[in-house]
Amino acid sequence: MKNIVILATGGTIAGASSDPTDMVGYYAGIVPIAEIVENIEPLKNIANITTEQIAQIDSADMDHKIWFYLAERINALLNQSDVDGVVVTHGTDTMEETAYFLNLVVKSQKPVVLVGAMRPSTAISPDGPMNLYNAVILAVSSDAWGKGVLVSLNDTINSSREVTKTNTALQDTFKAPELGYLGYIVDAHPHFYRMPTRKHTYLSEFAIEGITEFPQVEIIYGHVNDNGILAKAAADAGVKGLVYAGLGNGNMSQTMQDTFQKIQDQGVVVVRSTRAGNGVVTRNGSFAEDPFVAADNLSPQKARILLMLALTKTNNAREIQELFWTY
Ligand code: ASP
Repeated sequence: MKNIVILATGGTIAGASSDPTDMVGYYAGIVPIAEIVENIEPLKNIANITTEQIAQIDSADMDHKIWFYLAERINALLNQSDVDGVVVTHGTDTMEETAYFLNLVVKSQKPVVLVGAMRPSTAISPDGPMNLYNAVILAVSSDAWGKGVLVSLNDTINSSREVTKTNTALQDTFKAPELGYLGYIVDAHPHFYRMPTRKHTYLSEFAIEGITEFPQVEIIYGHVNDNGILAKAAADAGVKGLVYAGLGNGNMSQTMQDTFQKIQDQGVVVVRSTRAGNGVVTRNGSFAEDPFVAADNLSPQKARILLMLALTKTNNAREIQELFWTY
């Protein structure tokens, strides 16, 4: 059997409540990973599993410090010839962000799978045990090699770049809207139908070695009558980058354009993403006409991660634009 390490960070998969009918009023990050694994009998037949409790938090409290530790630990583990894959248990609220971050800084073709649950472990019919079983199935599968960091819940396989949480409560919440799943897991067999096409993991130029904190990047949400006070406040607070969850194709009012132009002239890199949820944000004209970076089809929260990593290399908007077309 292959050797899989499960790194646990908490979330609803480790959630608990005294009432088995509680689907919302429970506490995340309670049950230790060793206990969760011990209670899933079929896991013992598919891999040699070791567990490490990295954190025990609601994923709203995920932070860059834990990200750095996770990335370092995963890189160290996957460098070992006696580790075949890593599974990370994680709260679902910010799972897509941790997954995309790891997709850019993990240096291995071996499978890395993020998994969580929508129902706490104490629910009448929790989804966590099956999700974790499927995640380990993926981690031992040679089909999962070289496909970047994956997210698996509810029998589906998703690319970390495109996946997002689409529903606040349903188990069927992780999707890559419009672009689709990479595949399904049926009766302990992964079925892949698509490949991620953007650079990731072993081909990524980003690394966390030598970095102790990211340049600060904030997200500003676009809306009617936006007067730019939040963007100005962020710039005054010293942010190095701003992502605008813009209108439609990353559009903005004349007021916001003037505001962002001034901010970018002060050295803050501005990325135009969209609040629309799907589609490509294209460049508005040439670089001479449009100083802002277009986010391609990255959601604002993922554009923030790529911008932070990009800013560890350069603050030249033209170079950062190339990174957004690449990752
Ligand atoms: N609030 C929880 C978390 O993100 C939700 C979940 O795990 O499903 O940690």
